[in-house]
Amino acid sequence: MTLTPWERLKTTLRDIHHLKDAAAVLSWDQETYMPPGASHARAEHLATLQTVAHRQFVSPEMEELLATWLDPETGQLSREAAHTLDAPAQALLRETWRDFHRAKKLPSSFVTRLEREVSLAQHVWAEAKRTNDFPLFLPHLRTLIALKLEEAAYLGYRDSPYDALLDTYEPGMTEAEVSRLFAALRPPLMTLLEQVLASPVRPDPSIIVGPFEASKQLAFGRMVLECMGYDFRCGRLDLSAHPFTTSFHPTDVRVTTRVDEHDLFSCLFGCIHEGGHALYDQGLPVEHYGTPLAEPISLGIHESQSRLWENCVGRSRPFWRHFYPRLQTYFPDQLKAVSLDEFYAVMNRVCPSLIRVEADELTYNLHIMLRFELERDLLKGEIPVEELPAVWNQKMDDYLGIRPQKDSEGVLQDVHWSMGAFGYFPTYTLGNLYAAMLYEQACREIPDWNEHVVHGDLLPLKAWLNRHVHRWGRQYPAHDLIQRITGQSPTPGPFLRYLTKKFGDLYGIPIPSEFSQESSIPA
Ligand code: ZN
Repeated sequence: MTLTPWERLKTTLRDIHHLKDAAAVLSWDQETYMPPGASHARAEHLATLQTVAHRQFVSPEMEELLATWLDPETGQLSREAAHTLDAPAQALLRETWRDFHRAKKLPSSFVTRLEREVSLAQHVWAEAKRTNDFPLFLPHLRTLIALKLEEAAYLGYRDSPYDALLDTYEPGMTEAEVSRLFAALRPPLMTLLEQVLASPVRPDPSIIVGPFEASKQLAFGRMVLECMGYDFRCGRLDLSAHPFTTSFHPTDVRVTTRVDEHDLFSCLFGCIHEGGHALYDQGLPVEHYGTPLAEPISLGIHESQSRLWENCVGRSRPFWRHFYPRLQTYFPDQLKAVSLDEFYAVMNRVCPSLIRVEADELTYNLHIMLRFELERDLLKGEIPVEELPAVWNQKMDDYLGIRPQKDSEGVLQDVHWSMGAFGYFPTYTLGNLYAAMLYEQACREIPDWNEHVVHGDLLPLKAWLNRHVHRWGRQYPAHDLIQRITGQSPTPGPFLRYLTKKFGDLYGIPIPSEFSQESSIPA
């Protein structure tokens, strides 16, 4: 039986996905159960699988196949294809061509050089962070910046090299657009922060004292994941050094968390955050497995799913009206004297801090803006690399009013740059903006959502996200998806409304009328 070109395309894409997903299983194992002695062998297994997958994808056969419907140089659909193919088929071709084109543009000699430098730089960065030694990392950072500029030149861009790198993580997003969104976000955010810090309200974290038994924390996290609609028949919860989600297929999406017996929130919010990511991956349309129609559209949209569940839902009062009495039964001695209001206030306490991953909802985005501005200016050559720590510390002072005493708590804290991941940071804040837009819309469209939450029924939100976000895969670019769902282009408005209302209530700050009226988000 001979296959039609369309069937051949889908079969080829599916076979390539099998290789990538097998590699993903090995990576998951590496982070969870692999014995440390196997690390060298595992690196070789992964390299082989990835090389074979890459070679199949950029093969002349693939190019020839794509040429059935489009111009392999420009991605332009033929007149016939544009007239005869439906929208999902056209999206499948558009996104496959995008991947193909990007993969083809990077010479394999360059990819090898980059990979070698990244693996070296990550090693040196870890050592530099441990020993608080920025000069040790400096030459590697310099090399990585040069390599990333080279990569941007291969990939091509219209306005700035940063665009090409950002596009890797958030397709279609540009430096100019991020600058515009951040410029609109920063002043109101800093004003709100000033008001919070001037407030006499001071939640006291010392009222929540452990230890909190690890097995109970995990059981509670698992129960919350079940309430969110995470399907354990098609998933697992395990432990790892850093929480993550990985997907091998919509029927096998796994999450991890970590447990600290002296921190009640780390395990729980790890579960909820990764649970949000996992619902997206479990909700991708299984019938399109192997094609872009069953892949997540962007990191920003992915992050919007985790932040929506973690922050908008998981740090909200209605959520804890249901879950706090249950948490108290898990830890009766530790929590019996802590009221719901006290617990809620401590969980949402705003406190400028040095470390991004420990930041509260309000200050978090200032950490991201700082990183965006620095990486953008580094790539432009506007900041000499050796001056990076000083510029970092000054910006921390300007935005957050605190100054790192050592680089390990400053410029060396994140792994991203050592991995060559320039252009990645903005996706975290985009995720927050998208999350607030989506949540505001969901609150309008789900009848009595607040009532559902206070009864622990979170499934209507999962169903809403399945229907409006997950099932589309990469059919709509992030910007279009947000526009279709909310009727607006990406904007900081809903996020600012959400923060102003939430922290205004919590810290006794008068809420400006333009913020109090429009928001239908339960605080
Ligand atoms: Zn995340």
